[in-house]
Amino acid sequence: MQVFKFGGASVKDAKSVKNMASIVAGFDDHIVVVVSAMGKMTNAFEDLVKDWFKGNKQMWDKLNLIRNFHMQLIDELFESNEDIYPIIDSLFFKIEDRLNRTPSLDFDFEYDQLVSFGEIISTTIVSHYLNKQQIKNKWIDIRFLLRTDDCWREAGVDWELSSKLIAEGFSFTDEKIYITQGFIGATPSDLTTTLGREGSDYTAAIIGNILNAERVVVWKDVPGILNADPQYFENPKKIAAMTYREAVELTFFGAKVIHPKTIKPLENKGIPLHVRSFIKPGAKGTIIGPEETDKIIKQIPVFIVKTRQVLITVSQPDFSFMDEESMAWIFGIFSELGMKINMIQQSALNLSISTDTPEHGILQLVERLAESFEVRYNDGLELITIRHFTNEAIEQEIGSRTVYVEQKSRRTARFLVVKKQAAVR
Ligand code: ASP
Ligand code: MG
Repeated sequence: MQVFKFGGASVKDAKSVKNMASIVAGFDDHIVVVVSAMGKMTNAFEDLVKDWFKGNKQMWDKLNLIRNFHMQLIDELFESNEDIYPIIDSLFFKIEDRLNRTPSLDFDFEYDQLVSFGEIISTTIVSHYLNKQQIKNKWIDIRFLLRTDDCWREAGVDWELSSKLIAEGFSFTDEKIYITQGFIGATPSDLTTTLGREGSDYTAAIIGNILNAERVVVWKDVPGILNADPQYFENPKKIAAMTYREAVELTFFGAKVIHPKTIKPLENKGIPLHVRSFIKPGAKGTIIGPEETDKIIKQIPVFIVKTRQVLITVSQPDFSFMDEESMAWIFGIFSELGMKINMIQQSALNLSISTDTPEHGILQLVERLAESFEVRYNDGLELITIRHFTNEAIEQEIGSRTVYVEQKSRRTARFLVVKKQAAVR
């Protein structure tokens, strides 16, 4: 059997739903199809929850946008007398019910209860549409099978319980195709949880692991994994194959390849991950697999850009050394504030750290560090990582840009640089 994952972009309008249906119909295999919320609906639900918490009456307009988006899509796929209508109506009644209450004090909890409707609605539509097209399938509410702790918005999977339930739930005794949700799960007491944004890739990997899938296929709007983000680079090239290890490294450096948690469950069972284009479903895409996967492939340089970097330089006020104890304290502050360290450079007297500029600015961090150290910082920087670098690749990307920090290992070169003047990033 295989696990397919279709993200928001693959079901963003009626035409896309028809396209994904034809892709699924093209396989004569047992398939679990994991589908996320349609288009940008997860963002729309997030806005809705925020307005609800602020007591902002505009939330009803936001809800109407969400409703109209789905209704328009349904109108294009179904006749007005089909039973999808009362089902979707009842889901929107449930949402209204919640919004008519005063929210509890726990934002993250309420977030999970509401945002998860994006996935429930989208899979309901997709499942009905496929059945209507004679692509017989069973809709599964994954919350009964994928059990988690109650760490809202970042729930941890209960592997033991989920393994048993998922194996039973997707038994393929009477079905060849299941349609289910990514990104969501539930606690033992049936409260909905979510696994973190873009979590559907992870769901597909969990199901693949438990069912010992032959492969997991993530269908995307790009031809596969590219060696550079088309948002920032011209003519990115597709990478034909890479190892699990390489995929994890690329996500670590900031490539938006695949959700970072996706690889481990697949690696543990040697299940290949295919990234393929739903626009050109006949094309090969990228295969991520065990060590031998990329033996025959010539490595091409991969460019990864992390924008909005700030370089913090911390030093001892009294000319004493930057020792392990000091560094442990500094790292502790980052951890306490939930901030990620992207690059470190150390000297006798200084420790320099590149981190993402927080939404609310850098001041909180600077103030905390300044309790014990002298602190300077430079913002508006970019961290460029070039995997499998060549001199030509470095020249092409870094050229004459001002470099603040440069680090090279055998495979990877990293540069903390000033943002390009004309760049839109
Ligand atoms: N719909 C969720 C999100 O947009 C999960 C996903 O798409 O993977 O984050
Ligand atoms: Mg999505």
